[in-house]
Amino acid sequence: EPLIELSNINKTYGKEPNKVFALKNVSMTIDPGEFVAILGPSGSGKTTLMNIIGLIDKPDNGTYFIDGLDMKKQPDSIYSVLRNQKIGFVFQKFNLIAKYDALYNVALPLLYRGHRFREAKQIATETLERVGLGDRQHHRPNELSGGQQQRVAIARALVGSSPLILADEPTGALDKKTGEEILDLFEVLNQQGKTIVMITHDMNIAGKAKRVIKVEDGNVIS
Ligand code: ADP
Ligand code: ADP
Repeated sequence: EPLIELSNINKTYGKEPNKVFALKNVSMTIDPGEFVAILGPSGSGKTTLMNIIGLIDKPDNGTYFIDGLDMKKQPDSIYSVLRNQKIGFVFQKFNLIAKYDALYNVALPLLYRGHRFREAKQIATETLERVGLGDRQHHRPNELSGGQQQRVAIARALVGSSPLILADEPTGALDKKTGEEILDLFEVLNQQGKTIVMITHDMNIAGKAKRVIKVEDGNVIS
């Protein structure tokens, strides 16, 4: 069974005569264990697509199944619950909480899910070790390099064992070498079985994924 299945998704913004067709009849399937890049230039619809896949926004029409769930049949009230269960987000600008250390940033999603603090801390420590930050647990974001902050964010995305990691321009704020290290980490996590969907405008970065879905002007072109 696919993890992500979009069929004939349309999404528009605004009203005539300023209506924008951001996604036009988009269909795609992503299986568990894939490492997929969604590649397209600015304005092609990537953010719109990410917001739909990420349960942040809804399409005008078409169907979206995530992990076997038909999202059309889910009430609005559980979108945020499903978002937390199904998706670990990684952003260009890391989005860590400045006043908390790495450990607590990573433990938070577990605390929200009702884990006890000791257990959450234990899992967060193991996850930080997994991304190579075992020695930076008690540093706050402003005491970490950009690459280290992104590793914390990746640990946070991993810690809840969501089936999907959804990464939006994850190397966009990093220099080339550090960006490559983050992509190498994604590759390792993918080899360990994690499903990763990465959004980018950069061909070279997309090339690190195992499959590239190209979007242009709201259409999937290949
Ligand atoms: P990308 O992430 O690839 O740059 P977007 O999904 O942000 O593309 O945008 C796709 C199209 O939809 C663009 O033409 C953009 O101007 C338009 N768009 C995006 N968000 C809005 C919005 N809130 N209101 C109106 N138009 C929007
Ligand atoms: P501040 O130093 O600004 O008061 P906090 O007290 O919120 O910051 O957090 C300091 C550190 O204490 C965090 O980085 C985290 O390791 C730990 N911490 C924060 N909140 C809790 C909590 N609810 N339970 C246990 N430890 C916490």
